[in-house]
Amino acid sequence: MGALLERESIPHALLFAGMDGVGKRTAALRFAMACNCRSAGGAAEAERPSLPLCGHCGACRKIQAGIHPDIHMTAPSGAAIRIAQVRALCDQLAMKPYEARYRFAIVSDAQALNAEAANALLKVLEEPPDRTVLILTAIQASDLLPTIVSRCRSVRFHPIPRATLADHLERHKGLSPEAAAAAAVLANGSFARAVDANLTEWMPRRRWLIREADALTGAPRIRTLAFAERLAKDKSKLGDALEILKLWFRDLLIWPHDPGRVVNADMADRIEPAARRETPAGLLAKIDAVARVQRDIAGNANPRLALEVLARGLAAPGGNK
Ligand SMILES: [Zn+2]
Repeated sequence: MGALLERESIPHALLFAGMDGVGKRTAALRFAMACNCRSAGGAAEAERPSLPLCGHCGACRKIQAGIHPDIHMTAPSGAAIRIAQVRALCDQLAMKPYEARYRFAIVSDAQALNAEAANALLKVLEEPPDRTVLILTAIQASDLLPTIVSRCRSVRFHPIPRATLADHLERHKGLSPEAAAAAAVLANGSFARAVDANLTEWMPRRRWLIREADALTGAPRIRTLAFAERLAKDKSKLGDALEILKLWFRDLLIWPHDPGRVVNADMADRIEPAARRETPAGLLAKIDAVARVQRDIAGNANPRLALEVLARGLAAPGGNK
């Protein structure tokens, strides 16, 4: 970001690429603020963006509140960004900016542009309106039309290191060091995901899952069915739940050799007895079984049935030896 601002001219088009939750959209808004902040730089029409931006002048405040008339946000409606949305944006960009020094059009998840919409956007890129910056965000540049990518300056966003995430969660979200470390692993480098995960119900849910998975060994059929049913109920949380289970079995596997590397370090009291009950081969089989369910569900298998098979496998007393 800093390097972009130090250049004399502000690019017409940028592509911010990186996984979800690493801060692409936030960076786009900060850039818009830096280019429009009125407080630094003195002269109102200063050509160079100001760093640090002030955060409290009229321009900064409007952008932060999402009410600046010259900052246009476009995002998928449903699964796609449709031609009508791009046309509406083009209509806006054909007019003069209301008040901004630099107008911004931010198109989030640009990989969702359908072909027609992408071609309409390409026209804007070919003839960029004056004092307008177009920022596209996407998970990876290769998901977009090469003709679009070649007209944008690409900025790559890297996943946030685990230690940085954990540190933030510990200091600003009040998690214990061990819980923060666990949340950071699950968030896998995504800041938004880490904050989201711990602010809602992720931490208690992880405890529930691990307790249940633990209690499954040798459990009667009715219990395995109930577990599968509860997991299947909330599809949006199923991905995380399966990931948590895999991390748990992985912890049990490495605990005897390297207890310092377990993810769920805050649950050491539970890890120890569970690890003693299991064999390495049994744990590897459980990790495989969870991974198989992840693949099956990604391939459109019935989640409920796949989870029932998984739960029965985790319960089978002989199955983990
Ligand atoms: Zn400002």
